[in-house]
Amino acid sequence: MADLLIGQVLRFGGNPMTEGIEAARHSARGGVLVESGRIAEVGEADDLRRAHPDARITDYGDALISAGFVDAHVHYPQTAMIASWGKRLIDWLNSYTFPEEMKFADPAYASEIAARYFDLTLSNGTTTVCSYCTIHPESVDAFFTEAERRGLRAFAGKTCMDRNAPEALTDTPRTAYDDSKRLLQKWHGRGRLSYVVTPRFSPTSTPEQLDAMGALWKEHTDCLMQTHLSEQTDEVAWVKSLFPTLRDYLDTYEQFGLLGPGALFGHAIYLEPREIDRLREVDASLIHCPTSNTFIGSGLFDMDGLSRSGHRIGLATDTGGGSSFSMLRTMAAAYEVAQLRGRPLHPSELWWLATQGAARSLRADDRIGNLAPGMEADIAVIDLASTPAITQRSERAKDIWEALFPTIMMGDDRAVKAVWVGGRPV
Ligand SMILES: [Zn+2]
Repeated sequence: MADLLIGQVLRFGGNPMTEGIEAARHSARGGVLVESGRIAEVGEADDLRRAHPDARITDYGDALISAGFVDAHVHYPQTAMIASWGKRLIDWLNSYTFPEEMKFADPAYASEIAARYFDLTLSNGTTTVCSYCTIHPESVDAFFTEAERRGLRAFAGKTCMDRNAPEALTDTPRTAYDDSKRLLQKWHGRGRLSYVVTPRFSPTSTPEQLDAMGALWKEHTDCLMQTHLSEQTDEVAWVKSLFPTLRDYLDTYEQFGLLGPGALFGHAIYLEPREIDRLREVDASLIHCPTSNTFIGSGLFDMDGLSRSGHRIGLATDTGGGSSFSMLRTMAAAYEVAQLRGRPLHPSELWWLATQGAARSLRADDRIGNLAPGMEADIAVIDLASTPAITQRSERAKDIWEALFPTIMMGDDRAVKAVWVGGRPV
């Protein structure tokens, strides 16, 4: 039986970052017809009602029906240590992250956190994430098992590290390759799940391990590859000292076969001109993690410059370096960071980055991140009057963007009225 969801409908006919707000399509009384897990039609509510009299109707009133949010860079194992005080990147990893990640050797703990993580992301309207796991294969199994149980489209990989990390959190070039390959063969392409080749970052991988990861990726070019790039100045200097003969940070990936379409680089704040050009040339994805970049004190991503030059950019929470599970809060931080660089991002751009843009960075924008016929029916329904503060502001809005912006800036999980995954309400 088909479902017809009625409310305000927001979708995209193009990319507002490059085409302007006309690329966004808003209907004040629209409808989304869902059938067999996919979106069958999008249009005006009355037209769809007439054309599909048998459809089961869910009327969301004035709430906004959107594609579910896509979070392009997270660490689900850091769920329980989010909002840990007072450190910058390297100290933060050693003080908080690594001790927590060690616990994932225990499959029961990994399963408990994976379930808690998806409860939190779904309650925030996020229907797809791309996650790092830990070095333990058990952590990957726990993530995918839970994602599969909930019918989610999900991306993840085993984090590989063979130096500059505690003994209990290191693998080797050989075991990183073998374990990753086994997990890839087990999970990649199973239902809605995709494996991602995942070296944590150059400081924690030897050249031999980076080379092994490059070899694995070359054998499986239909997989994505994710890692971190140029997050903090100390880190960039450290990478230069670890790889003195290479041209720059990006070169530590490029030389080992870890640069290409389908590569996802988290942060990408302190880029040199060669790196910027090369990333554009190969059409790799840059993942902007604004709450993390302010929380850990990293810096201000150049959204204006990099989007103008045509880079493929996604948006992400970077849980738990990021300080929120919410893509609304993440959009707000992206707005603030861009303001500090002199470019106010329009609500249509922010919403696009959190849905279609993030999906595009994962090369999944033909399946998720938008409301269009044939797309998978992952949907978030957003209440634009979820708190008294938001309501009193949105009440005097003159158009959808003024009505939406208070929720972007001040909204949280209370604004998420309903979530549909694969054509079913959750
Ligand atoms: Zn990260």
